[in-house]
Amino acid sequence: MFLLGCACAQAWATGDVRVGIVRIDRIEQAPAAPSIATARALPETAYVTQDSTSQLAGAVRGNGGWRLQPAASEQPRVLLVYHPYSARVTVLAPPLYQPCVASIFTAGLDPSHSRRALAFPLDAPGPVYIGVEGARYPLQVMVRSAHAYAVEDHRHVRVLWLSLGILIGVTLVVLLFWLQLRDRVYLLFAASMALQLLYVLCAYGDAYTMPGLAWLARFGVAGIWFIATSSTIVTVCFLLEFADLRPRAPWLSRALWLVGAALPALLLLALVSPWPADKGWFPPLGNGLLLLGNLLAVLTLLTVWLRGGRHAGFVLIAWVPLVTVSTARAMQLSAGVPLAPWLEYGLPIMQAFAAVVLVLGLADRMLTFRRERDAAQQHAEHDALTGVLNRAGIITRLDRAIAETRRKRLPLSVLFLDLDRFKAINDSYGHPVGDACLCAVIDAIHGETMPEFQLGRIGGEEFLLLLPGSHAADARGTAERIRRKVEASCRMVKDAPVALTLSVGVVECDPTDTAATLIKRADEAMYRAKHEGRNRVVVLAAEA
Ligand code: GH3
Ligand code: MG
Ligand code: MG
Repeated sequence: MFLLGCACAQAWATGDVRVGIVRIDRIEQAPAAPSIATARALPETAYVTQDSTSQLAGAVRGNGGWRLQPAASEQPRVLLVYHPYSARVTVLAPPLYQPCVASIFTAGLDPSHSRRALAFPLDAPGPVYIGVEGARYPLQVMVRSAHAYAVEDHRHVRVLWLSLGILIGVTLVVLLFWLQLRDRVYLLFAASMALQLLYVLCAYGDAYTMPGLAWLARFGVAGIWFIATSSTIVTVCFLLEFADLRPRAPWLSRALWLVGAALPALLLLALVSPWPADKGWFPPLGNGLLLLGNLLAVLTLLTVWLRGGRHAGFVLIAWVPLVTVSTARAMQLSAGVPLAPWLEYGLPIMQAFAAVVLVLGLADRMLTFRRERDAAQQHAEHDALTGVLNRAGIITRLDRAIAETRRKRLPLSVLFLDLDRFKAINDSYGHPVGDACLCAVIDAIHGETMPEFQLGRIGGEEFLLLLPGSHAADARGTAERIRRKVEASCRMVKDAPVALTLSVGVVECDPTDTAATLIKRADEAMYRAKHEGRNRVVVLAAEA
């Protein structure tokens, strides 16, 4: 982005708006195929001088015939017709006045220039005659020295391809993410970026000079409409899914979808229906729908963002500059004024900017999903009352601990802890006090354990403590400390004289143990402790 900024600053700093044309005259009732003979045969009254604003801006106001009088110059010069888009331009230039026809779709144009402007060399002084067909807005024309234009064109290509390079890179990365993650939103994002890229390439004409894309030229301007329409509908689908618009703003989302769907329907009508023959109605209607769609998209995103939709915020940051620039660009082009430099490159630059912001948004979305998954896992594996692992959670950890023990050949002991006569406490003081007792016991146990020991609630008032790295003898020491701690610190809970105690069974994992056999043996040891009078620790010797 930094490089792009530097390249743009350079392009803007050298922006030269001198037109190099002394006078522009419109030819009244110009013939469809201009020739020098017909142009010269016309009386002077057939030439109408353009208004001074158009003269200054170098604008040729639409279709028809024009006569330009270039300013006198010694240098080799080129006549430039900027942003021709759908226009087909015929130029009769001195000294030979041979008709030279060009549009961005023409095969075999001089490859030393980009197609941002159609360039016609001017080798001799004298008036130049121009015929314009199929133009959708006034065209900007200039006469410049061939060298100055080569420099300008080189800068244009640099800025354009830097932006497009970012778009290509982002598209590829997002596509690779989709291949791995198979989340549809990545595919929609990649498709939206690729179509926007293709649109810029076609609108600037560069696509028609590229080996894999030159075939698009045969579809002419209808091909550009098709790409713009597909890009819009894919982008709308991406927005709806990425920013989670449907559930948060159902009505606005529906309206947005309708506008998105109306565009291809209209295009189909324009391309397929034989009537009316002139398809000129599509661009203004299509542009109007596009504008409406953009406004709706911004409104929907704003609503969703204000309702707490975090990802809508990312899209807004990416979208608003892009919409602003593309709307301002369309308005300047249709007004026939030379594009301000920030608008000239605004579209591809803002597309690159939007791509970068949206990639950040996708990363944020991934982070949100990960947090939700972690929270769900935490919820699934933990006991809501005490916060320790639940039965499933502690058994999973025990399975892992057994595998680890075997791998590292280290000891593992397990403590089965059961509260003594807990039912009586519940019966005497009620369940809330019983619940508080469970939490008090957990606190006491935690006070005597090491970070690597894992505690889980395996039943109502029964807990399992895993002691990786401990032999039975060490585990007995730990169990004794816990038993004494509970006896000493849990006499009173919530002002009730509960005098809690624990019976603890201790076993050490032997080579044949599974989680189930280990728990069963630990439970047996705990029951022995109960039978021997409770509030004690019993270690079950390993089976021979
Ligand atoms: P023993 O010394 O033989 O273990 O007797 P005990 O009363 O502790 O054992 P028993 O299995 O008869 O009763 C366990 C009681 O634990 C029954 C139930 O009321 C209580 N309990 C189980 N889960 C909870 C809980 O989540 N909250 C509360 N407050 N009590 C619970
Ligand atoms: Mg019990
Ligand atoms: Mg009990």
